[in-house]
Amino acid sequence: MKKKETSTDKPESRAPRVWDFVILAALALAALVIFLVFRAPAGGTLTARVTADGETLYEIDLGTVTEEQTLTLENGVVIALYPDGAKIVSSPCKGHDCVRAGKLTRAGQCAVCLPEKTVLLLTGAPGGGPDAITG
Ligand SMILES: [Zn+2]
Repeated sequence: MKKKETSTDKPESRAPRVWDFVILAALALAALVIFLVFRAPAGGTLTARVTADGETLYEIDLGTVTEEQTLTLENGVVIALYPDGAKIVSSPCKGHDCVRAGKLTRAGQCAVCLPEKTVLLLTGAPGGGPDAITG
């Protein structure tokens, strides 16, 4: 005997579809929120966050930086800030992988110095597509 796959004879079997839709909508909403959080609203600027040993030492809005500035941390790591990015300039560490990471210019990029437990992270602004030229 074959069972019919359609279940139109059971009206309550339609209920789960509503929940499927709700879950889908919730997922879409969550995705949208994540998208907005990571892309940041229009007009946002890059923020350079410097953490050492798990502590946030600096949080600099690069929109306020008009020319190159340098920060020298207690552990000897030197960080340069630019209107459009930031980089680790020098570090007492051996490998200098953090220095080789070069200049970070987009939100989400980071340079890590493991020996000095220092992290330079850019957050905030949109990914900066090639057509997003402002001011
Ligand atoms: Zn390093």
